Order: sequence, then C-alpha cells, then structure tokens
Amino acid sequence: MLSKILIANRGEIALRVLRACKELGISTVAVHSSADADAMHVRLADESVCIGPPASRDSYLNIHQIVAACEITGSDAVHPGYGFLSENAKFAEILEAHGITFIGPTAEHIQVMGDKITAKKTAEELGIPVVPGSEGEVSDEREAVRIASEIGYPVIIKATAGGGGRGMKVANNESELAIALATARTEAGAAFGNESVYIEKYLGKPRHIEIQVMGDGMGNAIHLGERDCSLQRRHQKVWEEANSPALNEHQRQEIGMICANAMKKLKYRGAGTIEFLYENGGFYFIEMNTRLQVEHPVTEAITGIDLVNEQIRIASGGGLSVSQEDVRFNGHAIECRINAEDARTFTPSPGRITHYHPPGGLGVRVDSGVYQGYSIPPYYDSLIGKLIVHGRTRVECMMRLRRALGEFVIDGINTTIPLFMDLLDNQDIANGDYDIHWLEKYLDVK
Ligand code: ADP
Repeated sequence: MLSKILIANRGEIALRVLRACKELGISTVAVHSSADADAMHVRLADESVCIGPPASRDSYLNIHQIVAACEITGSDAVHPGYGFLSENAKFAEILEAHGITFIGPTAEHIQVMGDKITAKKTAEELGIPVVPGSEGEVSDEREAVRIASEIGYPVIIKATAGGGGRGMKVANNESELAIALATARTEAGAAFGNESVYIEKYLGKPRHIEIQVMGDGMGNAIHLGERDCSLQRRHQKVWEEANSPALNEHQRQEIGMICANAMKKLKYRGAGTIEFLYENGGFYFIEMNTRLQVEHPVTEAITGIDLVNEQIRIASGGGLSVSQEDVRFNGHAIECRINAEDARTFTPSPGRITHYHPPGGLGVRVDSGVYQGYSIPPYYDSLIGKLIVHGRTRVECMMRLRRALGEFVIDGINTTIPLFMDLLDNQDIANGDYDIHWLEKYLDVK
C-alpha cells in the first residue's frame, strides 16, 4: 500500500481525493498556491506545502515545485485530480524517474490519447467505433475536397492538438470547405502552436455519452456504464446523468464491453473515460480522457464503487476490487455543476460566501471545498461544488434534485443554482429529450 499521497490539485477534487486517502489510512499532503492557503483541503490534510503564487503556471502547473514538495514530505505517490497536470505525460514520466508513483495511466498512454489523430487511430485499432473522416492530418485543399465528398457534407475540421472545443470549423458544402480549412489551420496554429487539422463527418444532433473504464495495467479491465453529458454550454458540461435516458440495457452492455475489451487489449492502467457522440443508435468516438472526470460521482452513485479508492488500489499494485460480473447499476443519478457565476450571463462571481448551507438527506451528496466565510479566489475556474442526487428511478431523482436545490444556501456570490431550478421545470429535461445543442438553444430563447 502507498503510505503518503501528495494531492496535486485544489478545490472540490482535492478534497474528494483526500477523503479517499483518509478512508484508506493513507497520509495526505496538500500543495497550494498562496491564494489557497485557507482552502478546506489544506486545512484537512496531514501536511501542506505552499508551491507558489496564485497563477496556475507558477503553482499547480509547476512540475519542479511539486516534485520538490514530494521530496520534502517523503510522499510516495501523487494524485493529479483532473485538469492541471492530470494529462501531462511529462509530469507522469518525471515522477516515475524520481521513484514517485503517478496515480494514473502510463506516460505512453497519456501521450497516445492526448494527440487526437493517434487517439482516433488507436481507438479504431482497438475496435472502438469512430466518426468517419480523414485517416490523419489534412493540409491540402484538393485532398480535403475528395475526403469531404466521400464522407458527405456537412463536415467538421478539427485541430489535432485541440482541446476545450477550440479550433473547429464546420463546412456545409464544397464552397465553404476551403475557407473552413484555412481558418481552422490558422486558429489551431495560434491557439496550440500546431496547424495540423483533420476532417470528420459533422453530426447534427448528437448526444454526448461517455463510458467509464478502469484497468489494472496487466490486462484486466472493466466498464462502469455510461454518463450522459449532453447538457453543455460552450463545450462545458453543466448537468450529467447516469444512466443515459437514451440508451437501453442492451446498448449499454454492448458499448460498455467494446470499451472494456479495448482497455484489456491496451493493458490500460487506472481510471479513464471514452467519450462518444451518439446519434441514431450509433456511437462515434471523439476522445479518451486518461484521468478521473469531474462527473465521476454519478457513476459512483449508481454502482456504489469508489473510483478514487479504486485508482489508489490499482496504483498500489492491488488490482481491481470488482470484476465485470460484480458491477450492478442501481437507480439513477444526476450531477449539477455549481459554478460561481451568474445563472443568466455566466459572468464569474468570485468573492466571499457569507452564508453557506448545503442540502442533505437520503440520496444527496455535495462535493465542495467551500464553507461559510470562505473567499473564492478569482484566479481559477468557477466550479465551486457539485450536487449529486441519487434515486431509484429518474423521476424520483428529479424530485429529490428539486428538493435539494431548494435547500442549498450560498449567499454573497452568484451561482448557477437558479439555472438548474429552471431546467427542472422544462418538459424536454423531464423527458430526457435533449442533444448537445439543446442547452445553448434554450439559453438563447430564454
Ligand atoms: P475538444 O478536445 O476540443 O473538447 P472534442 O473532439 O472532444 O474536442 O469535441 C468537442 C465538441 O465538439 C464535442 O463535444 C462536440 O460538441 C463537437 N464535435 C466534435 N466532433 C464533432 C463531430 N464530428 N460532429 C459534430 N460535433 C462534433
């Protein structure tokens, strides 16, 4: 077993990881920027180290400082959480070179999945269905025209090094293609320092459905079902649920087993998420995230499996605690991302929380690092907590969600709670009838 874990993150996820460590009797080290000295995970950790000034690049992204903090505290492993260094292959490599365990996959697997073209190629080789498109990079206009007419319009041009939904352009016909190709390349160059782009069929009304996987790194792997994260604004997920209202048990098992088998072949280690666009009964791979996701608690709610505990077990060499046959899906769960933002304009709203009262009761979980009197610093993303609600059915889950949102008191700042209250009154949401464009259209007309 690992004896001391350094948590290279902040906010709710740092606390989430800390809780798993405590349950396992593992000592914890919090690292924090000077802006986060008062954070809850810093207060609750056994030890803490300030690793730099507020800017992320000088603190949470500063590999040297984090490795030094490991050495000083004698930490034998690092949990990277999500974001920051969680998908940085170099970080994983440097830690291993220092004899420190990176709680995650191998640096090689992070790298393969971090490049969109190699990720797609690898997924295809592993038997995962992908979006029809170019075999690799496309730079030549004539080649682009040929590929687009083969797969049929509309097509989407995407940056190989893309992320966060940037560097993508849709072309509806041949005359739009040349401009789309040129702008996508220029934008990709400016945003990622890499002009390389590729072409895919553009799906008009897909859902975003992702499969949670877990592997032991030795060829055993399981899937833990799907999450439906179609409710998004500017490619940011807002509301996530499991199971997806769009899938039946047969589809769930089929795509789940495709992913689990792919991870067995890859000898994948740790937690991962395989993301798909889903349209007319078909699944189309878009990317794999080689880390824990923000929305992992909805999977925990319906399976009863602690994903962080599982990650730590695997990193310790203890393997998976469950086999595929042991995994049971129980009821329905919804997560609402509570952001410190205005619920209509989405303007960030940092500042001091004057009153704080989280909801409780059966089937209600709040993952958050905030507390009464805490000041949300302006330097980081606006996610301040997650409300996760579980019920035996989707209807029960929605009833409970309405009750829990009503109980939630966060005064002194604006939050996205009113948006979720509104969504619960909507018939499409009640019916589970939405695609990835639904929320933006809804916000436009509201
Ligand atoms: P990123 O890494 O930038 O998030 P993704 O490949 O995950 O890029 O795509 C981000 C989003 O762009 C998807 O969630 C979806 O909304 C849209 N998208 C990507 N590929 C397609 C496609 N082939 N058809 C339609 N929409 C797409």
